[in-house]
Amino acid sequence: MLNLVLFGPPGAGKGTQSAFLVDRYELVHLSTGDLFRFNIKNETELGQLAKSYMDKGQLVPDSVTISMLEDAVNKNPQAKGFIFDGFPRTHGQAQALDAFLEGRSTGITSMVALEVPEDELRVRLAERAKTSGRPDDADPSIIQNRIDVYNAETAPVKDYYEGQAKYQGVDGVGSIEEITDRLVGIIDAL
Ligand code: ADP
Repeated sequence: MLNLVLFGPPGAGKGTQSAFLVDRYELVHLSTGDLFRFNIKNETELGQLAKSYMDKGQLVPDSVTISMLEDAVNKNPQAKGFIFDGFPRTHGQAQALDAFLEGRSTGITSMVALEVPEDELRVRLAERAKTSGRPDDADPSIIQNRIDVYNAETAPVKDYYEGQAKYQGVDGVGSIEEITDRLVGIIDAL
C-alpha cells in the first residue's frame, strides 16, 4: 500500500493537492476536517461535539478523532492506499495511527509536508473565507488560534516521522501546478 500523510499548517494547500494526488495514485482521501464538517452538516452527535472545538480553532479531542479516522479506514477495505489529510495532528494521533496500521499489516510510507510561511497562510485563509463558508476562516483571531495550535501541538508531529526517516518537506509556495509537480517528484521516488 501507498499510505501518505499530507502535512502542513492550516491553509497550506493540503486539500487542493490531495485532489490531484488521489487521481494520480488511485488513493482514498481521508480528511478529518472534511469528515467533521460532514458530521456537522448532517447534525450528528459527533458533529455537534466537533463544532464546539472547531469554531474556536481548537483541536477536537484525540479519542474522538482517532476512532472516527479508524472507522473511515475500515470502510475502505479495497483501498490501494490512503492520503491522510489533517491527520495525525498530535503525537498521540501519530502513535495511534502507527499501531492501527500495523494491526492491518501496513504502515505509513511517508509524511509529505507543505512548507508555507505564516504570513502567506494568513493571506490565503482570509482569501478562502470569501468562498469557503467556514466559520473558522472568517475571523482573524480564530485563524491565529489555529496557527498557534498548529505550532504548539501539530508541528512536533514532524519530529515523530523524522525519527522514522519518513519526513519529506516540500516548498508550498508557488502555483498549484508547480507544487503538484514537486509532490509528484517526491512520491514517484518513494
Ligand atoms: P485546516 O487545515 O485549514 O485547519 P481542516 O479542515 O483540516 O482545516 O481542520 C479544520 C478543524 O477541524 C481544525 O481546526 C480542528 O478543529 C478540526 N480537526 C481536523 N483534523 C483534526 C485532527 N486530526 N485532530 C483534531 N482536530 C482536528
